[in-house]
Amino acid sequence: MLSPIQAKLLIVDDLPENLLALEALVKGRDREVHQARSADQALSLLLEHEFALAILDVQMPGMNGFELAELMRGMEKTKSIPIVFVSAAGREMNYAFKGYESGAVDFLQKPLDNHAVKSKVAVFVDLFRQRKALDQQLQALERSRAEQEQLLAQLQVTRQELEHAVRMRDDFMSIVSHELRTPLNGLILETQLRKLHLARGNTEAFTLDKMRAMVERDERQINSLIRLIEDMLDVSRIRTGKLSIRPGQFDLSKLVADQVENFTAQAAALDAQIDFSAQASLVGGWDEFRIEQVVANLLTNALRYGMGKPIQVRTFAQHDMACVEVRDQGIGINAQDQQRIFQQFERVASAPGSAGLGLGLYIAEQIVLAHGGSLGVHSVEGQGATFTVRLPLSSLRQETDLQQATSA
Ligand code: ADP
Repeated sequence: MLSPIQAKLLIVDDLPENLLALEALVKGRDREVHQARSADQALSLLLEHEFALAILDVQMPGMNGFELAELMRGMEKTKSIPIVFVSAAGREMNYAFKGYESGAVDFLQKPLDNHAVKSKVAVFVDLFRQRKALDQQLQALERSRAEQEQLLAQLQVTRQELEHAVRMRDDFMSIVSHELRTPLNGLILETQLRKLHLARGNTEAFTLDKMRAMVERDERQINSLIRLIEDMLDVSRIRTGKLSIRPGQFDLSKLVADQVENFTAQAAALDAQIDFSAQASLVGGWDEFRIEQVVANLLTNALRYGMGKPIQVRTFAQHDMACVEVRDQGIGINAQDQQRIFQQFERVASAPGSAGLGLGLYIAEQIVLAHGGSLGVHSVEGQGATFTVRLPLSSLRQETDLQQATSA
């Protein structure tokens, strides 16, 4: 479709009557004619517009048509504009202008032959419009190619995300199965063993001490099953915005002290020691059960990845925040992994003794965020890790659900 493209024509002659006559000859619906009465005027029009054709009178006072054409040849903007010289002199004279680079140079003889002028101009106008139409098509093509490339890039990102999601789901399934199987295997083996003893009437296997140890082992396995299931439920509660936070007033230092106490036996079994130092009292309004869950997770990790070295736990107030810091001297976490351990199902593959679902820190951070606080890590690989929980000391928050709190 060529119709919307207008071609601009420049006609240059020192005599107004010649300009009038020429305009009458070359004008048309698809053209816009600009007149110039001198080379200077022509140059300023040439800088302002994009012309399809310049028709130059050769004999003009001051700068003549050939000199103007020389100047046009020297300028980037005008060097490709086709030129038609109009001259009263003989043909030999017309060929005096050579070497115009575009090659699009033609000549018209005065007195003008109306038909010859019209058809010459029509050829140049058509050429210009075809070239413009082609340019527009090329631009449209380029635009659609760029859009396609962008779409392709988006598709690739989506595909990678999908692949990652599928990999995570598969990993998750196998980790969950493994994590569920371990305590279940322990329980089933114990049960079979007890059945065997019962079948043989072996009462020796059921002394009070042995029974006590059995019950403790069973309880541990059952608790770890419950923890796994609770973690999975928490994740689904977080996703659906149903993890409720029920704030009540309590002393954070006391809660941490109790938790450290609870973990002493576990630490002793690993030959590790937990040192606790507390700011006297840090009373605030938080969900006690949930904060206990956060602290327990950090202590479990410190023991799990702490290589049996001493663990320091402290509570303190800083800038209107109540803080809990759990510092171990274990394997540490490199900077890259620090970015992802707070995401669900993310575990550091190379971490020895890694045994969880990779949900603990995700849940812990979401709980802390729901309280308007933060959970941060500072670590150098091989030199231990320090996790810090910060909770606002100020107001006692009303019961809130996680979605409201985190999307705020
Ligand atoms: P998991 O149940 O796998 O421990 P978490 O979400 O609690 O899940 O932790 C995610 C990962 O972060 C762990 O698998 C471990 O690689 C790393 N990590 C957590 N705490 C520590 C720590 N104190 N020292 C070293 N690595 C840690």
